[in-house]
Amino acid sequence: MARSLFTLDLAAVRANARRLVEVLEGAELWAVVKANGYGHGAADVSRAALEGGATALCVASIEEALGLREAESDARIIVLGPSETRDVERARSARLELVVGDDRVPDGVPVHLKLDTGMGRWGLSELPAPTRDVVGVMSHFASADSDPAFTRRQLDVFREATAGTSLIRHVANSAAALTLPDARLDAARCGIALYGISPFGGDPADDGLRPALRWESALAQVKLLEAGQSTGYGRTFVAAEPTWIGIVPVGYADGFRRDLTGTTVLVAGELRLVVGTVSMDAFAVALDRQLPVGEPVIILGEGIRAEEHARVADTIAYEIVCGVSTGAPRAVREVVP
Ligand SMILES: *Cc1c(COP(=O)(O)O)cnc(C)c1O
Repeated sequence: MARSLFTLDLAAVRANARRLVEVLEGAELWAVVKANGYGHGAADVSRAALEGGATALCVASIEEALGLREAESDARIIVLGPSETRDVERARSARLELVVGDDRVPDGVPVHLKLDTGMGRWGLSELPAPTRDVVGVMSHFASADSDPAFTRRQLDVFREATAGTSLIRHVANSAAALTLPDARLDAARCGIALYGISPFGGDPADDGLRPALRWESALAQVKLLEAGQSTGYGRTFVAAEPTWIGIVPVGYADGFRRDLTGTTVLVAGELRLVVGTVSMDAFAVALDRQLPVGEPVIILGEGIRAEEHARVADTIAYEIVCGVSTGAPRAVREVVP
């Protein structure tokens, strides 16, 4: 048996896309599929998002875009990250659109001008006179998930700078699309919500979204620790009393991070705590009784959410799912159409 199994539920991605289209009330949904679709698989997610009503795909780099172009020969593909002058020819022949955040606006390829309205990262501080190939103008929010006042201020700066333009205007990410109707403008660039993960770290069901990724494994060994015996490197978990533990053949090399000690997974349908130090190839769970080897362990899915793992690891769910290694030789990946 494989050490673990990832299942990508395309029906969930389609449903999340449809849900976002409904929320956007007329603005276009642009599906953000950078970083291999937040770890889910960019080509599969793109197809499902387009079927669910998305009208464009957004990636971070020319390389990601060229890979996606092979799977999606017709879709509109926008490269959000910075590109080099030498990329322009490749972008043109692959029919990509580029985002430009400085005053070197290339010719011969559709361009979106990026304004820095408070993110303090990529972007122009003023809108230059648009050239023939400029099709859109955009900005990016720094804290749409947590600071509505600052987000509103960024939106006001953007609207003032772009008043009167007939270019496509797009600023919203998932959090803004869900909470700030004025930010929806002509299109919203949604990533995390498409995967059924809450941009706010809460329950995605609150926003009508459903997780698309399931990650499961099985108990590979079950043993009884006597009081005083430990499991794993550093002896960070020492049994206070006789304790059954199960060993799961998934570790930080698979994307189950070392700081996930203390998180919860489902073992044989019951919530169980991850104990001891996560190693490269395995982690341990505390059991309340002896269970047979082969009992299923659900790491994501069936109510075990990336948002919860992120809380334990003191990060965001984005980083949890981007970090999972969904491919051979360690894991098997299945796609449910
Ligand atoms: C990643 C990204 C998004 C998507 O953000 P989510 O929070 O995942 O919806 C939107 N716009 C830009 C510029 C991005 O880099």
